[in-house]
Amino acid sequence: MQELARTLTYFPAPRTQKFCSQCGSTLTRRIPPDDTRVRDLCDNCGAIHYQNPRMVVGTLPVWQGRVLLCKRAIEPRLGYWTLPAGFMELGETSAAGAQRETLEEAGLQSELGALFSVIDVPQADQVHVFFLIEVTDPSLAPGQETLEAHWVEEADVPWDDLAFRTVSLTLERFFADRRAGQYGVHYLALPPRRG
Ligand SMILES: [Zn+2]
Repeated sequence: MQELARTLTYFPAPRTQKFCSQCGSTLTRRIPPDDTRVRDLCDNCGAIHYQNPRMVVGTLPVWQGRVLLCKRAIEPRLGYWTLPAGFMELGETSAAGAQRETLEEAGLQSELGALFSVIDVPQADQVHVFFLIEVTDPSLAPGQETLEAHWVEEADVPWDDLAFRTVSLTLERFFADRRAGQYGVHYLALPPRRG
C-alpha cells in the first residue's frame, strides 16, 4: 500500500492550477488589473489564486559536538542525508513546525534553541529556516520518512551525499561558527531561477 501511495503522489511543479478551488470552474492565467504578475484567475466567481513561496522549517540538533543527520526514506532525494526539516503547516509557528518535524523524522524531543539560518530558494519557491537545538537526551526513534538517523562528527559528514544545498550551507556555517567560537544568524540566498 505504501508503494502504491508513493507512485500515485507527487509534488507538482510549477504549481499552476487548472480549476478554481472555490467554484470548480476552469481558470485562466493572466495579469489581473493593478497587478504586475500572471495569476490563476476564475472568471466565474472572481477568485484570484495567488501563489507564494512555502516555508521549510527544520533544526540543527547538536549533542556532544555531533550533529544529527537523517537518511531520507521519501522523494525527493531518497537515500540522501538531511537535517530534520519539512513544510510548515497552516496555523503553526516556524519554531513549532521545526520542533514537530524533528520529532516526526528523528523521534527527538527537545527545547528549541536560537534561529540559525534563513535561506531563500527561489528555484523552488521556498524559504528554508533552521533552528539550533542543544540536545540533552540523544535517544532517536526515526519515523517513516527516515531510513536511519545518526549523531555525526564533523569529520564524518557525508558532504557529497547531503540531500539539499540548504542543508550543506547550514552545516558549513555551523562548523565555521563553532571554530570561530561564536554563533550567528545567517541569511543566505541561492541563485534565482534563470529566465
Ligand atoms: Zn471560481
